[in-house]
Amino acid sequence: MAMTRDRILFSREAIQSRVAELGVQLSQDYKDGEVVVISLLRGSFVFTADLVRELTVPVNVDFLTTSSYGHGEQSAGRVEIVHDIRTDIAGKDVLVCDDILDTGITMRGVLDHLAAKNPKSLKTCTFLDKPSRRQADVVLDYTGHTIEDLFVAGYGLNLGDYARNLPYIFVRETVEE
Ligand code: 5GP
Ligand code: MG
Ligand code: MG
Repeated sequence: MAMTRDRILFSREAIQSRVAELGVQLSQDYKDGEVVVISLLRGSFVFTADLVRELTVPVNVDFLTTSSYGHGEQSAGRVEIVHDIRTDIAGKDVLVCDDILDTGITMRGVLDHLAAKNPKSLKTCTFLDKPSRRQADVVLDYTGHTIEDLFVAGYGLNLGDYARNLPYIFVRETVEE
């Protein structure tokens, strides 16, 4: 009989220690100023909440929601900004945070949208990176872990309508019993 089993890739403790390391690195890199952290909803709300609490520089947090309509199998997916940031980022140091960089289409669209607002700098940070599926040209400045081509869930990442709240990252596998 086919059953499903959840295989944990990153435990709560492993995530915490990696996020803390990213916090040290970012706090060092932004030590001379302040940073506007832009969290891409919904997937990055957990990661962003953890990451900003590891930063020792002044932080302004804002949120941006994109629509994933037209992604998936299509290679030339367009990114629609459903809800824009409210902060004026002109002349500011901006860090865009997401849960995972996959094809890169979402991040590319967001970066182009934000670059038009004339920030002083624009960098990217995702907890996970799946480089094997990249289609768009994106420089990933900070990342927690590089993973294979797996569909992961937990820690903000959804499995259908669920699993965003789970404190670990896992893969749901089908096994024959
Ligand atoms: P991209 O535009 O880079 O292909 O898509 C990035 C978005 O797709 C992520 O922010 C995330 O919402 C979603 N995504 C990509 N890979 C995964 C995955 O393995 N699991 C889940 N739950 N979402 C993913
Ligand atoms: Mg997302
Ligand atoms: Mg999603």
